[in-house]
Amino acid sequence: MKNSGKDGQDLPRIIPRPAHNVSRKEISDSALKVLYRLHKAGFQAFLVGGGVRDALLGLHPKDFDVATDATPDEVRALFSNCRLIGRRFRLAHVRFGREIIEVATFRAAANADDDDASHDDEGRIIRDNVYGTIGEDVWRRDFTCNALYYNIADFSIWDYANGVADVERRRLVLIGDPDMRLREDPVRMLRAVRFAAKLDFTIDEGVVAAIRDNVSLLTNVPAARLFDEFLKLFQAGHAVRTFELLWEHGLFDELFPATAEELEKDQAYGRFVHAALENTDRRVADGLSVTPMFLLGVFLWGPTVKLAAARRAEEKMSESQSLSIAAYELVAQQQRRISIPKRFTVPMREMIALQPRFRATKGKRALNLLDHRRFRAAYDFMVLLSEAGLGDPAVAEFWRDVQTLSAKERIARFDVQSPGPGRKRRGRKRRGPRKPRGQSA
Ligand code: ATP
Ligand code: MG
Repeated sequence: MKNSGKDGQDLPRIIPRPAHNVSRKEISDSALKVLYRLHKAGFQAFLVGGGVRDALLGLHPKDFDVATDATPDEVRALFSNCRLIGRRFRLAHVRFGREIIEVATFRAAANADDDDASHDDEGRIIRDNVYGTIGEDVWRRDFTCNALYYNIADFSIWDYANGVADVERRRLVLIGDPDMRLREDPVRMLRAVRFAAKLDFTIDEGVVAAIRDNVSLLTNVPAARLFDEFLKLFQAGHAVRTFELLWEHGLFDELFPATAEELEKDQAYGRFVHAALENTDRRVADGLSVTPMFLLGVFLWGPTVKLAAARRAEEKMSESQSLSIAAYELVAQQQRRISIPKRFTVPMREMIALQPRFRATKGKRALNLLDHRRFRAAYDFMVLLSEAGLGDPAVAEFWRDVQTLSAKERIARFDVQSPGPGRKRRGRKRRGPRKPRGQSA
């Protein structure tokens, strides 16, 4: 690797404060406190990663990472609000209310060329826990734009990897040999797409080519890590662009194979997915909450509908039931790629199974749908389906209007027969609280 700098001998280009636009106003008070205290205690203290990159781009960073030559124990000794985390590599988390500043000690890159023990057979990093200098720390980072260090001592930026020029060119360039860097950690392929979408950067040709050769390595990444990455990919406000890039580079297919197969065949489903991604971005832009179960439901809807039809052909059951069963099977299949916690899969299946119920607009059962705990999500889902041409617009309109009515008007609209005075409840009236089932008194 040219310019590998693993001896820490390369010198950085130092950009003095007047020559760059990273202002302390863009750095949170908590991050500044951490930087200043480390500095006053005689350690080197740099802001690094997304905080510097986003500030350079005028993007108002929200997340701050600090790099220092203090060891984790030395960091902990300086801050009472500090916790050490991580087993493979120890990091310090300094907490200020809800904000956490991550403080990492400089470390040397695991180097595949001369250290077999640090990589597995496919080149993945399995050990990178050697402390180092800043001149070594830089080479283990992923993209040049993520390897800029803002020095609290004099507010200069240290640039070893040509990061400032790449930020100016708006290019996402991997440090070192792209093929090797992607094999070390295949999640970097997803990070490339995430940053390209968020920053509106172009992915460098060398990285594009290396992604093409290594997409299949994503299957080696632990499913739990891919869930974390899934959240970052689709809930950061750039879901539409992220999806397009994942698709373009063959990565979506690796993450959601059943969805990708359906998208190849069905244009209306593609419109639905697109509408859902747009809707997610709009919600993020408006500061509204987004739940991953909604998009996961959208991604599994296409294959679920097909499988549900097949299940109904085999066995007599309701449409809702078949959707619920099919969604269960598809979730199980999807979990092998991306592990989705139960707290999302359970409501997601409910939201999917409720869809056929919107078609019934008369009677008590239809009226009760309004009170279902998944009504809101299921309703939004149904509206998007209808906008994509996959549902009856009149039905969507009915459910939109009916929500604005009073309780009395609703009863009329749903043609619910109010129980007349002559009708008696069947069975004996219960007195007192019901005893728990299965337990003797
Ligand atoms: P953002 O916080 O906006 O998602 P970020 O660049 O700060 O972007 P983090 O995941 O917070 O990303 O990581 C902080 C820094 O740690 C990165 O900028 C990069 O230098 C380094 N880093 C993180 N993940 C990796 C990785 N998988 N491989 C190499 N370096 C990484
Ligand atoms: Mg960060």
